Amino acid sequence: VYEGTNCKIMDGKTLSTNLISQAKTLKDGKKVPCLAVILAGENPASHVYVKNKIKIFKEAGFDSQSYIISSDEISEEKIISLILSLNKDKNVDGILVQLPLPKTINTEKILNAISPHKDVDGFLAHSIGTLATGEFTNAIACTPFGILAMLVSYGIEISGKNSVVVGRSNIVGKPMSLLLLSSDATVTMAHSKTKDLKQICKNADILIAAAGQPELIDKSYIKENAVIIDVGIHRKENGKLCGDVHSNVKEIAYSLSPVPGGVGPMTIAMLMLNTALAAWAKD
Ligand code: NAD
Repeated sequence: VYEGTNCKIMDGKTLSTNLISQAKTLKDGKKVPCLAVILAGENPASHVYVKNKIKIFKEAGFDSQSYIISSDEISEEKIISLILSLNKDKNVDGILVQLPLPKTINTEKILNAISPHKDVDGFLAHSIGTLATGEFTNAIACTPFGILAMLVSYGIEISGKNSVVVGRSNIVGKPMSLLLLSSDATVTMAHSKTKDLKQICKNADILIAAAGQPELIDKSYIKENAVIIDVGIHRKENGKLCGDVHSNVKEIAYSLSPVPGGVGPMTIAMLMLNTALAAWAKD
């Protein structure tokens, strides 16, 4: 598929499969980790994501429970009362509220009801705070954590490198920047108000594209031999998936984590790792 280029393609799918099969052996003699997933509303993509997470947890011998609340039953009180009872449930190690929640619901209020010990998504203010201070006592957001695991697995040097993160969301851009910083990279964060994005990206040894803009980053944005991580997920009109990065970057990049098959599968592996760590911290 990638003939004619020297660009190394990072295979997040195989890496994730290997990590998940290692989880099966790691859990011998320990509590079986259990994840509770709350899915509120009818968003079809969310239903697919939740089904997939539960399937992969099952395959690895991890437990999961799903709580599906239909649109006509949704209220903040209902979701919070469910979270409070799961917080007390000794069998439940991690609680995940599938985002996005319907617009009528205050997402911050819901997330902050989760016990910090059971936050396996790493989205709580407390978890992001411990990432920022470098305490690392709480879950690290799964997508950035998966990206870091991939960079390390592929032997990409991070220390001292110029890295640019395009996107500043609480779930990808910000925690990604903090993780790269804690790995001693020099980090630039770019966002929708950034001027001269192309020039900034051209300075990156490691470029993380998480703007949610289909094929925003093409080869004219990147430096020769840069490492490119594509986080965006979009469905084209022809039904195929694409990311925030154009495939022509392969002509000059050193390495690319593509969409699909890169960051997505790593995210689920890190969710399992966070759930296992939450379960075994109590052992
Ligand atoms: P978001 O919409 O919350 O944030 C996007 C960020 O990009 C914002 O900070 C915005 O300022 C910035 N941005 C938007 N347009 C820009 C532009 N033209 N130039 C520079 N910056 C721009 O999105 P998110 O939740 O962080 O997700 C980003 C993308 O990653 C989406 O496509 C999403 O589907 C995908 N995603 C993938 C995974 C995975 O597991 N692979 C996980 C989470 C998100």
